[in-house]
Amino acid sequence: MRPRGMVEFWDMGFHFPSARTWALCAGAALFTACGGGTHGQVAVGDKNVSVNVSWAEKKSLEKLELQTHKNLPEEQQCVSSRSPFADDVAEIIRAVNPYMETRTDITPPVRAVELRDHPPRAEDRIAVYLCTGMKPRAYTLYRSIYLSGDFIGGLKNSSAAWGGESAYRSALAFVLFHEMGHAALNHSALKLRSADQFDLPQEMEADQFAYDAMAASRISVTGIGLARAANN
Ligand SMILES: [Zn+2]
Repeated sequence: MRPRGMVEFWDMGFHFPSARTWALCAGAALFTACGGGTHGQVAVGDKNVSVNVSWAEKKSLEKLELQTHKNLPEEQQCVSSRSPFADDVAEIIRAVNPYMETRTDITPPVRAVELRDHPPRAEDRIAVYLCTGMKPRAYTLYRSIYLSGDFIGGLKNSSAAWGGESAYRSALAFVLFHEMGHAALNHSALKLRSADQFDLPQEMEADQFAYDAMAASRISVTGIGLARAANN
């Protein structure tokens, strides 16, 4: 059964077929709604299982990234530097990039993550876009990540009950790193092969990637509960 958040995304996330088909793990974006109750059981430090992409698949995915960005719904604005959360996300990206440099196991290689206002990203980068007017909370298309400003704002507003600023930072990092897991592990290639092929194993892999990245970046895990709660 598809979790509620997921249905919400598939039904309302986009108004055009390509992004609906290719966007990953959107409305839900995360663990609980996408992955369901397995968190905490994933061992930190295990090697991630990435999806092998052929040269042709890589080219197709890169093309799809550009097309999808060009065809974003009119109400969705993704100029990251205009987002009130740009500094918060940039700070987390700075914290995680030294870890990304150590991930020489990722193929095609990823050297860094960067906040962008528009494509194209460099071939060895993961691009992050902060968007307004975006229905899903987060989604990843190959190596482009889209995060909803409303969702981030919701995390911030709810963070007081979870420990305030540090919980907010932690929750935001977890959401971003989970999507980075989908990006780095080439989960979009599965979508390219079969639109239905993206489920629990990929969610667990993305969670594991996020836990590893948080540990390596010395970001506390206090906000993971907040991120989960916000996702429900
Ligand atoms: Zn996911």
